[in-house]
Amino acid sequence: MSAPSPSGAPPLLADFGEFGGRYVAETLMPAVEELAREWPKAWADPDFQDSYRTILRDYVGRPTALTEAPRLAKSVGAAQLLLKREDLCHTGAHKINNCIGQVLLAKRLGKTRIIAETGAGQHGVATATACAYFGLPCVVYMGAEDVARQALNVVRMRLLGTEVRPVHSGSATLKDAINGALRDWVANVRDTHYVIGSVMGPDPYPLMVRELQRVIGEEAREQALSKFGALPDAVVACVGGGSNAMGIFTAFVGDPSVELIGVEATGEGIASGRHAATMAEGALGVYHGMRSLVLQSVDGQLQEAHSISAGLDYPGIGPEHAHLRATGRARYLGVGDTEALEAMELLARTEGIIPALETSHALAALPRIAGELRAKLGRDPVIMVNLSGRGDKDMHTVMKVRDQGAEAMVGEGMLP
Ligand SMILES: *Cc1c(COP(=O)(O)O)cnc(C)c1O
Repeated sequence: MSAPSPSGAPPLLADFGEFGGRYVAETLMPAVEELAREWPKAWADPDFQDSYRTILRDYVGRPTALTEAPRLAKSVGAAQLLLKREDLCHTGAHKINNCIGQVLLAKRLGKTRIIAETGAGQHGVATATACAYFGLPCVVYMGAEDVARQALNVVRMRLLGTEVRPVHSGSATLKDAINGALRDWVANVRDTHYVIGSVMGPDPYPLMVRELQRVIGEEAREQALSKFGALPDAVVACVGGGSNAMGIFTAFVGDPSVELIGVEATGEGIASGRHAATMAEGALGVYHGMRSLVLQSVDGQLQEAHSISAGLDYPGIGPEHAHLRATGRARYLGVGDTEALEAMELLARTEGIIPALETSHALAALPRIAGELRAKLGRDPVIMVNLSGRGDKDMHTVMKVRDQGAEAMVGEGMLP
């Protein structure tokens, strides 16, 4: 293991090359070590597996469908397109898979309180949902700016019985919410579990979240084989922190014929400085308890990320993605705000599915990917896309961008 582990912690579970590690305050070490010790035991325990799988089936609605998208396939130049329908999960995206698993683990460890941080509010809503389901109190830290911008998700969380605590320090956005959650965890570490929302944070979180999301790829691989008798030529997913992508990639990492392609957000363009393209522009740094690529200035100051899709608006990336790229197993492309909006409309019109703006980034890359694969394989390719979430939450953004009339209605308080 190459990643250093401060304060003589037990060996790391995950080997992500030079990425990953456990960079937390001394006071948090016991809690992180407890997780590193207890998580593998829980995951290997048939009773834990049974509870987790049963809840995914009866509450989340798994397995989700693998839907063939022939009209979109034709439009992007693919022989066949397969959509893994995480938009059909309860709460409308893949995030719930992870939250159910972590809160189940917290109960097993005797924790009586859950905390989380959220940027746009989607991870906050998924955590609040899991806490309501299990009957555990929940506090979600959210930058005060985001509380104002994402009022609907704040209402959702409060309706679910969660306390939303606005954080006013710094720029009052995601990074400040992370600091708020970490401070709370330091003060309440004995009885509190911190639910991290993507394949990020100190070891063992990136591995644990990946395992809790791998059901996506396991189902999809099985469905592709049983329905079509073959694996796809490529698996494509959007990348914010990277959990839906790791969730679907993991099942295919051992299939050398399957290309793994992540799509990150270039926002208003890399040259504008307003983007979330961590793979293209990030540098190695320590952030959020891990060593990974991070958007930062030349003197190492954290840079704010920007994307039209709130869920991709994160200045870091999970260490396993950095490792997959370093080893050449996965590659990463960039897609901007405008292309994502166009792809959202294309899927809506060709297949009758309105995807999340995050997901739309993966869809927007399809013509490029299909062209590259056609050149390489000499035939139209079969491509699988992780449809990470549904677009209902993004209608406000779409209206603002596309329709001045609707914007006026929002301004008058007629619409959220
Ligand atoms: C949060 C979110 C993402 C980005 O998070 P990852 O951890 O990269 O998966 C992508 N799609 C949807 C629908 C989301 O809600």
